[in-house]
Amino acid sequence: MRYIDELDVGGARTFIRADLNVPLDGSTITDTTRIEASLPTIRWALDHGAIVIVASHLGRPKGTVDPALSLRPIADSLSEFLQRQVMFAPDCIGDATERLVRGCATGDVVVLENLRFHPEEAKNDAGFARQLAALADVYVNDAFGAAHRAHASTEGMAHIVPQTAAGLLIRKEVEALSKITESPERPLVAILGGAKVSDKINVIENLLTKVDALLIGGAMAYTFLRAQGHATGKSLVEEDRLDLARTLLERAQQSGVALHLPSDHVVSTALDGSAPAEQAGIEIPDGTMGVDIGPATSERYGAEIAKARTVLWNGPMGIFEVEAFSAGTMAVADAMAKSPAMTVVGGGDSIAALSRSGKSSQISHISTGGGAALEFLEGRTLPGLAVLNR
Ligand code: AMP
Repeated sequence: MRYIDELDVGGARTFIRADLNVPLDGSTITDTTRIEASLPTIRWALDHGAIVIVASHLGRPKGTVDPALSLRPIADSLSEFLQRQVMFAPDCIGDATERLVRGCATGDVVVLENLRFHPEEAKNDAGFARQLAALADVYVNDAFGAAHRAHASTEGMAHIVPQTAAGLLIRKEVEALSKITESPERPLVAILGGAKVSDKINVIENLLTKVDALLIGGAMAYTFLRAQGHATGKSLVEEDRLDLARTLLERAQQSGVALHLPSDHVVSTALDGSAPAEQAGIEIPDGTMGVDIGPATSERYGAEIAKARTVLWNGPMGIFEVEAFSAGTMAVADAMAKSPAMTVVGGGDSIAALSRSGKSSQISHISTGGGAALEFLEGRTLPGLAVLNR
């Protein structure tokens, strides 16, 4: 794949599709991680004489103008990070926006309004893609978090703009995730958690052909435990995935992958923390549900992480939003931070747990793309990257 630093962007209107989909509280940005992750590409373009046009989606306005999802606060934040004036175009297409961009000189930065105010964006509409492309001499996709979507700004317009490349954030993501899928230092250990096996089947299947050990936590562990014949009480079990869980367990055994499941649990009678947390062994008592991995499992998983040379983590070990059910997830976050291995973390919940522990800086790579990272790890082709490989 070609990257921005192989292009001559001097004097070129350089359209950077970034992922500036930050969390907002009213018009206040509560976490600027994604803006900061986009800065290296924007700065590189500015340092090399580009006219920079930045576009992104924000939230899910569903194709209508929603003032609460305007990119204006993001333009202001970007202006502070870049320490320079940033212009704001009140629409991402149209005559006024084209005029604004045509009037720009080297070093100018324009942020376009939310791409998803137009329903044509998510439909990858050809006319809309042409209107976006009319703003650009060079197209750079740096929105890793949206690279699994074939939208007009992530895929369609890349067929039209004469020069295209990926940005530096995408390079970082692709390099880190490829280390896992292509040439990991071994042992390679993956820790998967979260609510459902059904969401992560493809990732589990693909990882089973690559990892030395797979550690399972979160609610999806109970589907596997039930498949093995253990008591799971009222835990979240996907009854229609029991056969699949058995198949995955067999496949792990055949390929010599150590598939670890919890051997003790934190259980409760309520998911929301309104009832006390109790300890249980491998069998979950009737009337209770598993809400976190237990201390012995945390220790065992920690020891596996400590032995690894490459570790991937996606998904919480329990209902970590409730303090009393968060110890297992926090123990994994700690073990990841302590590990001298190449550590890669993806998924909003795992990232939130790490930032709660204050140890994010001790992780080798924190992926900005939840769904995109999982699809990459499944071995799927991401349309936003494939189009740049033409
Ligand atoms: P996912 O989006 O699939 O990564 O799932 C994340 C969600 O799974 C979080 O909101 C957790 O609260 C939830 N979760 C994790 N463990 C459990 C559990 N044992 N029972 C119910 N929900 C869980």
